[in-house]
Amino acid sequence: MKAAYFKEHGGSDKILYDDYRDPVVGPGEALVRVRACALNQVDMLLLDGRFPPPEGLPHVNGCEVTGTVEATGDGARGLARGQRVIIFPGFSCGTCEYCLRGQRTVCVRYGYLGAHKDGGYAELVKAPAANLLALPETISFEAGAAIPLAMLTSWHALVAQAKLRPGQTVLVQAAGSGVGSAAIQIARLIGARVMTTVGADDKIEFAKSLGAEHVVNYRTQDFVDAAKQWTGKRGVDVVVEHIGGETFEGSIYTLTRLGTLVSIGSHDTHWGRLDLRHVYSKNLRIVGTNLGSILELRTILDYVVAGRLRPVVDRAFPLNDARAAVQHVLDRKNKGKVLLVP
Ligand SMILES: [Zn+2]
Repeated sequence: MKAAYFKEHGGSDKILYDDYRDPVVGPGEALVRVRACALNQVDMLLLDGRFPPPEGLPHVNGCEVTGTVEATGDGARGLARGQRVIIFPGFSCGTCEYCLRGQRTVCVRYGYLGAHKDGGYAELVKAPAANLLALPETISFEAGAAIPLAMLTSWHALVAQAKLRPGQTVLVQAAGSGVGSAAIQIARLIGARVMTTVGADDKIEFAKSLGAEHVVNYRTQDFVDAAKQWTGKRGVDVVVEHIGGETFEGSIYTLTRLGTLVSIGSHDTHWGRLDLRHVYSKNLRIVGTNLGSILELRTILDYVVAGRLRPVVDRAFPLNDARAAVQHVLDRKNKGKVLLVP
């Protein structure tokens, strides 16, 4: 098959488009013909080596995939050849202490499609058959590929972890990102009020169209001051943070008493300073979160079918132009998800 892969770490110029080993389907697995695959920030960490692929190089990125069932291994039931599917990207063992507690995202053997295994920047990808959900007819392959990681992570962060309630205030960092554009919509769906940040003025209208009430260009305005003003000095109830560094540090200062910061990524840096006085004196909660459950993904698909959540696609590139797609994301030119289509 053809794939866009890399065999050394670096920038977008390290992406090669060429023949690559075909995935071999084992028992309980399914082979999927990729129809669309979304790019993700974790792809950039895998590519540049900040998060080297656990199984080594060469490696194929791509954790958000829709497609059709091409073949199934022994014991893989309930799937028909040609069926439209969306892949739930998390792998868990089902037997460790955390899986048995029902917390599969912290499985001791946890893995992601496209990180721990080769992913969807390819014509074919394999996954456990149990990770495949039917993709409703009303959701296109392109829109579907914008859902699994971005929408699911934001959903789990706001609903399950922050326990966001109607009327609360939320700061969502980076409206133009996949998780940002999803988090704004989900917070609005819950009935919360949203403030968000953008890195360019041409993203302000985009953020408002998703439901953000107040949009701040963090390059020209201090988002901590802006959050204080927006809330009448009170501070926000919840922050969705996925940048790290000074953004993380500032995000803590925007929280009101008993506020919650959900940490769902570290796209600029893995490090961040923390003024502990704010944490203990205001009784803040800092909650780490990753992905969500396959049941939550089904719930999100229902909301998308009902038109209450909208996967946000910036643009699709052909698979053989993966280099340009990756550079588009690295340059932060995207408003929502960037896709690859074989
Ligand atoms: Zn486990």
